[in-house]
Amino acid sequence: MLEYNDKIREISARLLKECRVEMVIGFRKGSMPMMNEPCFITKADDAGQLVWDSNCGINLANYLTNRKEKIGIIAKGCDSRNIVTHIIENKISRDQLFIIGVPCQGMIDKRKINAMFDGGVQKVTEDGETIQVDAGGQTTALAKADLLQQNCAVCIHRNPVIFDEMVAEPVDEQQNVDRYEDVRRIEAMNPEEKWNYFDDLLAPCIRCYACRNACPLCYCPTCFVDESKPQWVGKGQDPSDVRTFHFLRAFHCAGRCTDCGACERACPVGINMRVFTKKLEKECFDQFGWEAGLSLDERPPLDTYRPDDPDDFIR
Ligand code: SF4
Ligand code: SF4
Ligand code: SF4
Repeated sequence: MLEYNDKIREISARLLKECRVEMVIGFRKGSMPMMNEPCFITKADDAGQLVWDSNCGINLANYLTNRKEKIGIIAKGCDSRNIVTHIIENKISRDQLFIIGVPCQGMIDKRKINAMFDGGVQKVTEDGETIQVDAGGQTTALAKADLLQQNCAVCIHRNPVIFDEMVAEPVDEQQNVDRYEDVRRIEAMNPEEKWNYFDDLLAPCIRCYACRNACPLCYCPTCFVDESKPQWVGKGQDPSDVRTFHFLRAFHCAGRCTDCGACERACPVGINMRVFTKKLEKECFDQFGWEAGLSLDERPPLDTYRPDDPDDFIR
């Protein structure tokens, strides 16, 4: 994705030089393999630090909340949808932003790669559809398609939905993907199987809140889990408190989640908590034909009321 890098740097340097923005939010190389980190570039001369590759899975919309500056921001498909959601929710205004759109080709799942090489990965590079992994003194070439994050493998909105300038021509969107196979599998379980499934899923949770902190939707000044007056949920590892955190957070994301995967990517113990938000995403689609962040002109179904809203699911 060298051509993306050149274009991202060129646009960012130009915007800063012409004082059209005060900063550009993008990615730079992290100190660990597959861990690009968000960066705030404020000088045109520093635009060369910006990079783009298959390790830019953090959602940069997370850094826009309540900012007052004029900002340039690099946005792949899911970031752009969260930017739309931020604008609709009055967390940033459209005219503060210069959106540098990146046609996304999917992010690789660092956990899959680390597991294949027993954590001994020294360097990861890519060339189109091939990922080269240096580990244990050897270089191994792998197909990127086999290493995608699960959300990227089923993503059908890879191109930004809003932008001011694109870094390349749009990519072909994926067709005929089964986005909700995992949700249907859980829906088909009987109550006991579901209970056991969710028990196992959440057992390793250490309540570090990295998932919440990585999510652009979680911008409340005081999250319900941090409130002490009243205390809505216990602060320890009691399974009912852990469940309450996850279920309530998921409901707070209903009709807003873009399935960007930033929450799951941030989890230090590898919990697939997206199953909760995906179930609600599926319900919003089935009941209201709604997908979050596709349009600035339409209010989300859960913050509007229409007399003909479907209601036969209410019992
Ligand atoms: S969810 Fe889609 S737009 Fe977002 S990183 Fe994955 S493939 Fe790209
Ligand atoms: S809940 Fe997870 S997948 Fe959904 S928008 Fe937040 S970070 Fe992205
Ligand atoms: S990031 Fe993982 S361990 Fe931390 S609170 Fe979220 S699910 Fe639990």
